[in-house]
Parts: sequence; C-alpha cells; structure tokens
Amino acid sequence: MPLNVEKAWNSMDCPRRVAVLGASGSIGGNALDVIRSSNGKLLADVLSVHSDIAKLVELAKIHHPSTVVITNEKADRSLLSELPKSTEILFGQDGLNAVVRRNEIDIVLLAIVGGAGLRSAWNALEAGKMVALANKESLVMGGSLIMELAQEKGGQILPVDSEHSAIYQCLLSRRFDCNSPFSSHKPRTWIVNEEVERLILTASGGPFRTWSRSELRRATVADALTHPTWNMGRKITIDSATMMNKALEIIEARWLFNVSSDKIQVVVHPESIVHSMVEFVDGAIIAQLSPPDMRLPIQLALYDVRRLQGTTRRLDWSQMTTFHFIPPDPERFPAISLGLEVAKVGGTAGVVVNAANEVAVDAFLNGRLSFDRITTACQKILENHQFEIKPTLERLFQLDAWARKETEIWISD
Ligand code: NAD
Ligand code: MG
Repeated sequence: MPLNVEKAWNSMDCPRRVAVLGASGSIGGNALDVIRSSNGKLLADVLSVHSDIAKLVELAKIHHPSTVVITNEKADRSLLSELPKSTEILFGQDGLNAVVRRNEIDIVLLAIVGGAGLRSAWNALEAGKMVALANKESLVMGGSLIMELAQEKGGQILPVDSEHSAIYQCLLSRRFDCNSPFSSHKPRTWIVNEEVERLILTASGGPFRTWSRSELRRATVADALTHPTWNMGRKITIDSATMMNKALEIIEARWLFNVSSDKIQVVVHPESIVHSMVEFVDGAIIAQLSPPDMRLPIQLALYDVRRLQGTTRRLDWSQMTTFHFIPPDPERFPAISLGLEVAKVGGTAGVVVNAANEVAVDAFLNGRLSFDRITTACQKILENHQFEIKPTLERLFQLDAWARKETEIWISD
C-alpha cells in the first residue's frame, strides 16, 4: 500500500489534507462546507479554480490553503495580490499535475466539470492517491484505463456522485471481514459478480419528466436550468434535463463497479430521496436514502466511508411521505439507451459521446442548438467514429479533440 494512502487510513486524529479541485463550483462549495464543519479533521490544503479569482480570494481567506491553482492561464490576474502572502500560486494543468502528486496531500477531491478532469484523475491515481471522484466524465472517457491504473498503483476511487455513493454503501452491507480497515472499505469484485443481480440507478427525471416530445423541442435554456430537486452547475443541470447525466452515470457505474451493462437498470424517482439500490441474487434489495444534499456523499468520501456526524439535512418521518418509482421513457429520453450501449461496447465510445455532449450542451446554452438535438448530436458523432476497443490515454485525448471538432461541424451544418 502506498505510504500516503496508509497515512490517510491511520490518521483520523490528524487533519486529513484535501486538494479541492474545482473549488469555485457547486461540488467544490459543498466540499468546503463539509471541510469547514469538520472541526479540523479535514483541511483544504489546495484549492483550484478555472477563472473565478474573486471567488478564489474569498475562499483562500477562509481556508488558508498552502497552494492555489488557476487553471485558465488567461484569467484576469489583477486580484491575485489579495491572496494571503504565504499562499503559493500555480497555473494551468501543469500546476494541477504537480499538486495532486504531493506527498502531503491525503485525498484529492476532483470536482472539475467535464473532460478537463481526466488528466488530474490520471495524475492523482498514478501517484497512488485516494480520489474522491465527482468528475464522472473522467470515468466515462477512460474508465477501463483509470480502473487499471488505480489497481496497479494502489490508488483508490471513492465515489461522490450520489448514485454511486449509494451503490457503494449498499455493497458495503456485504462486508464480512472488517479486520483490515484497508480491505474492508473496498467492495470486492467477487461480491459484485456473484451476489449482485443488478445495480438500480435512480434518476429524478429532471425538469422535463412530464413534458411531451413537441414540448421538449421548444424547451428554453431557462426551463432546462430549473432542476426540481438538485442545485448544481450548469452543465450537469442540462445533462439532467436530457437524462444524459444518467447515461454518463450508467457508464460510470459500469467501470467503477466492474459490472456489465445488462446488470444496470435506471428507474425514475422524482423525490430524489432513494439515491440508488442494489438487488442481490436472492431478490433482496438494499437502498440508501437521505434528503438530496451532496454534502453527505462528499463527507462520506472525504472520511473514507466512515460515519461521522455532519451538517446534512435529515428525513422527517413524522411527515407523510410518498415515494414514486417510474420506468424511464426511451422515446422522450433516448439518452438512457445510448448510455447502456456505450457501457456495453466500451473502448472509444465513452470519450466520443462525452465530447459530443459537452459541445452540444455548450451550443444549447449559447442558443445554437435546440434542446432535443443534444442527444441526437451525441448519437450521430458516435455513429461516425472509428471504434477502437483498447485505446491508450493519448489516443483518448486525440479522439476527444476529434469528436469536439466533428460536433461543431454537425451543429453548424
Ligand atoms: P460547476 O460548474 O459548478 O463547477 C465546475 C468547477 O470546475 C469550477 O470550480 C470551475 O472553475 C472548474 N473548471 C471548469 N472548467 C475547468 C477546466 N477547463 N479546467 C479546470 N477546472 C475547470 O460544476 P459542478 O456542478 O460542481 O460539477 C462538478 C463535477 O461534479 C461534474 O463532473 C459533475 O458531473 C459532478 N457532479 C456534480 C454534482 C452536483 O450536485 N453539482 C453531483 C454529482 C456529480
Ligand atoms: Mg448523480
């Protein structure tokens, strides 16, 4: 076991040093809330933002990180002088690559949005770090390579996505041999293969759950950004509206839990209380429930799946509660079948779909593409690409660039 992982496991008394990548975002903000209320058990040692230096200055004054990273080299630097004098300032992807490998970092919280997160996931895992992973896109793009790397270097991925955190918790219900704290926290592959019948991912259904196909064609940016249960960044909010978020999560689950796509099912659950479920071969289903509050999966990941008191909201069972479970509609939300297909074929399909989706979402947000054509763009670019079963990391980056260009051309045609 690499020294830094061992140290993280054995040192709950010491502060655990966290690198918060994507600190200015929705997950970043929730993570910093968790860190602030940890009574010194967690420490934000590194903060990264892409361009929002005003926010970085505000956060640095609260958290006193040793280092900050600004990934957009063209960001306006005029406010940097307001950072505390002792703060080291790094720039660009090189800055991120360096900080995630540092010995003093116990855990990397990867809350960067989109394919831009892949390099950091790679570097952190190559250095044998624990990665609290919110950035699902990195697993969608390179799940097979990433899981192999984590295995080889002794790094560990702790899911932050609420569905995957829920599944992780459900799988931990099958934990027998808890003597070694290291092995006890890893769901074992044999449990997933032999005892698990299926993983059931829940989906809120987004703002358009009840909209007809013709209404979906007219959906505006404002409509799509109004999520009924979660308050998130713009890209994932649009992904939730198309249900491409669930497609990405199917692919994420396929790699993270090493299950085939036919063992993954999606069910719409508009209340967002049951965060996902695992059905075992004997027919028992274990579910994880809590109010929709990302601080819970974040805290669980940062504490290595230990249960500590936190500040997250509680369910109130004295109130009348009704939960609904509805099968997704493949006609109105074709993204689900697309996600299952990509999870099934693997190879280069994930990187292409992810890139096409990022470009299409951006085009929708900028008024260049109608809502219902976002998923069509992903399907078309996937069909047009030359599939490869075992790409290298560098090949993934080449295909990412290719798919982005092709999608731009498809949109402007
Ligand atoms: P967000 O848009 O609110 O924040 C994104 C963060 O990434 C910001 O700090 C931004 O500065 C940084 N960033 C943007 N572009 C970058 C680039 N090119 N290089 C480096 N940094 C960059 O997004 P979010 O909602 O916090 O989501 C972050 C990730 O977490 C996404 O992958 C999303 O799918 C996942 N996630 C989010 C939620 C949620 O509740 N928000 C839930 C589950 C998973
Ligand atoms: Mg999710």
